Amino acid sequence: MPLEIVTVPCLSDNYAFLAHDAATGITALVDAPEPEPILAALKARGWTLDMVLITHHHYDHVDGLAGVLEAHPATVVGNAADAERLPPLDLALSDGDTLQIGSQRGTMIDVSGHTIGHVAFVFPDTPVAFTADSLMALGCGRLFEGTPAQMWASLSKLAALAPDTLICSGHEYTASNGRFAITVDPDNTALQARIADIARARAANEATVPSLLSLELATNPFLRAADPAIQAHLGMEGADPADVFAEIRQRKDTF
Ligand code: ZN
Ligand code: FE
Repeated sequence: MPLEIVTVPCLSDNYAFLAHDAATGITALVDAPEPEPILAALKARGWTLDMVLITHHHYDHVDGLAGVLEAHPATVVGNAADAERLPPLDLALSDGDTLQIGSQRGTMIDVSGHTIGHVAFVFPDTPVAFTADSLMALGCGRLFEGTPAQMWASLSKLAALAPDTLICSGHEYTASNGRFAITVDPDNTALQARIADIARARAANEATVPSLLSLELATNPFLRAADPAIQAHLGMEGADPADVFAEIRQRKDTF
């Protein structure tokens, strides 16, 4: 039985997620921007929280943790390699380590780039990946700490997951990401269609997160650095995709 995923809007544009294993009743939270909406989402479903998975150290992903733990004394899970910058961890994992949400087995993988030590949590049997500010809907996180080569390597790991993987990312940035994406991939009809869908969703105040990896592979320019049309548009035919990614990220930073 797949994990039941609940998207919880927090702060101005953040998303936290609940992942519930109906087989065991175990519930995990991914990131804790602020406690109130998370506690309300748990209460509405009659769930108690067993685990909190932390993706990275930024305040908008951890500042609500204390308030959540006050109501639900859950096990806090995160990256051992970044433990000194994270809230106290009960379970410190390393790249490639497995974890369970009830009956569902997952893996924590290092996806450094936005920060060094940013991780994603992947549950292949649902399938879902909690990617926060690494792979985002139609975008990727800004490179505050890592190099373009690091982020390209991280995105390449996520791109290799099953195409029907649900990508649960950390922010509602999709509309502005679309305005940029079309400038580097203007002839992509799947991208044009997605931008129209995003406009419709946002006008109806609907979330554009989570998204399917298959849609990201078809439309997200940060995953498409090897695409001949994008390379030609950038005047980089035949270039190393890592270099093309660096150029796209650079353009987005000044867009
Ligand atoms: Zn962040
Ligand atoms: Fe963030």
